[in-house]
Amino acid sequence: MTDTTAPVLELRGLRKSFGDQEVLRGIDLAVHRHEVICVIGASGSGKSTLLKTVNLLEGINDGQVLLQGEDISDPRVDVDATRARIGVVFQQFNLFPHMSVLDNVTLASRKVHRAPRAGAETTARRLLDRIGLGDFAGAFPDRLSGGQQQRVAIVRAIASDPELLLLDEVTSALDPQLVGEVLDLVTELKQQGSTILMTTHEMQFARNVADRIVFLHRGEVVEQGAPAAVLDDPQHPALQAFLARVH
Ligand code: ADP
Ligand code: MG
Repeated sequence: MTDTTAPVLELRGLRKSFGDQEVLRGIDLAVHRHEVICVIGASGSGKSTLLKTVNLLEGINDGQVLLQGEDISDPRVDVDATRARIGVVFQQFNLFPHMSVLDNVTLASRKVHRAPRAGAETTARRLLDRIGLGDFAGAFPDRLSGGQQQRVAIVRAIASDPELLLLDEVTSALDPQLVGEVLDLVTELKQQGSTILMTTHEMQFARNVADRIVFLHRGEVVEQGAPAAVLDDPQHPALQAFLARVH
């Protein structure tokens, strides 16, 4: 059952293998209400797989994934109902190209939450106005820049008020000049109290916005803490090497 005193998300001893390659090797991690956690790590360290196990896009081999205290890794869980509680945005191709911006944003509310169209559209228009894209409600996604598309994808993910937002390198596919507008929106969501687990290569953003940075190395959390501690005083040699490469 949902327990409102529990962390929004808790991973316990999470293990995931693809064939005989173990890519998550016993992850313990808690994300509390209103926290923004940035997961950093080299390519292939397991960041995306971690987020996919939370969203039930990948099954796990051992451990538990708890959402508000409820074990969502239990095979008996209702996958669609659980996914509807979690907003997700990936690196690219988030929007349906054959649907208007407005329909993209209202889709989950209408299909999964069975909200009436009028109410869903009012909410969607309010969100689009807030990110300055109200005029694009009737447009198809290809009329928008990559940065605008990602902002639409993010408001779509929050339109049905999820308990947790997962963002997987949402700025990695963008031209550098478009990165800021997307990260500004994430910052705004944090200020409004969203709970966010995200992966990013934007260290300056992680420093300024994350409550905690988690460094993943070969499927293990080898270091985590406040941004300044992790970024300015790294202890683990793998983190030192990683930061030397990205800085
Ligand atoms: P990151 O997001 O940190 O770059 P990933 O989670 O994408 O890392 O990948 C971690 C490891 O798991 C990599 O070695 C990758 O090749 C492997 N992997 C990811 N997805 C699959 C899959 N569906 N099948 C097989 N191997 C996979
Ligand atoms: Mg990845």
